[in-house]
Amino acid sequence: MFIPDGIFYEEAIENYELGKELLEKYKDVPKKIIENHNNIEEMRKKQNSEFAKMKRNLIIGTRKTHKYVENHKVSDYLVPYTSSGCIAMCMYCYLVCNYNKCAYLRLFVNREQMLDKIINNAKKANANLCYEIGSNSDLVLENTITNNLVWTIENFKNSPKGMLTFPTKFDMVDPILNLDHKGKIIARMSINPTEIINKVEFGTSRLKGRIEAINKLAEADYKIGILIAPIILVENWKELYENLLKELQENLSNKAKNKVFFELIFMTYSYVHRMINNEAFPMAINLYNPEIMTGRGRGKYMYKKLVREEAETFMKDIMHKYFPNNKILYIS
Ligand code: SF4
Repeated sequence: MFIPDGIFYEEAIENYELGKELLEKYKDVPKKIIENHNNIEEMRKKQNSEFAKMKRNLIIGTRKTHKYVENHKVSDYLVPYTSSGCIAMCMYCYLVCNYNKCAYLRLFVNREQMLDKIINNAKKANANLCYEIGSNSDLVLENTITNNLVWTIENFKNSPKGMLTFPTKFDMVDPILNLDHKGKIIARMSINPTEIINKVEFGTSRLKGRIEAINKLAEADYKIGILIAPIILVENWKELYENLLKELQENLSNKAKNKVFFELIFMTYSYVHRMINNEAFPMAINLYNPEIMTGRGRGKYMYKKLVREEAETFMKDIMHKYFPNNKILYIS
């Protein structure tokens, strides 16, 4: 169980059931009251080198903005939900672009309000819309602290319309296996070669556990997807990604293989990542490679066009070799 070093919380959380539960659960952890989870001066002033230590804190508040963003991939909308940030430390984490070094885990206790809004929005829509509830955090990880994923699936199952989806890099799926999800949930496991997980995705589940989790979710009749993401073009990337697909092919159950779809996403990196990673993880590998990367505006980097095209062709070829019958939803 994650025991934070410290908790910063907005006083209003005492008015919510989950807020009370968390304060009780962590009654022995030192706490500070804050005005707003978005602006904790003490945290803002810390050095990048303290990034890993900062992630040992938990911030609890209420979510005030509930703006949906249109999306055209697995979901129709990205929806702000019960958490943002994470206690793991993937060196490319997209949340660092939004929150900089303050990408620690924030929990929002007004979950009823957020789920009601999704259910009402789904009811009013003409189509059966899908809502991405995990674009700001990892709900399988969050569930180990709040039980929110279990709560969400149980409270969403009777919604007359709509689907929910979330990606994860964690294998702690057992609590949701026996739930009556009514086929309204698409769970998507994000995977990478073991060498990349070990060197880049600090604090996440190992590949073997993630593959086992996919099999368990398939067995529990969840709709399932696999994200090969982010694809990182390290020196021996071709060998690593081909071995990854081979391992997947050998270890996925038939039930999983029969229904899984894929999303392939190449890594984008940024100046902010470089600064934080250089200071927080000086011994780690350097993901920025100017020979194959180019600027993409607003301090972001992507792989150069020709490099990316070659990589995309290679990935399509090996996908075809190992998973000829599975759909690749998109490559981005
Ligand atoms: S698990 Fe996801 S949210 Fe957490 S650090 Fe890694 S990429 Fe970011």
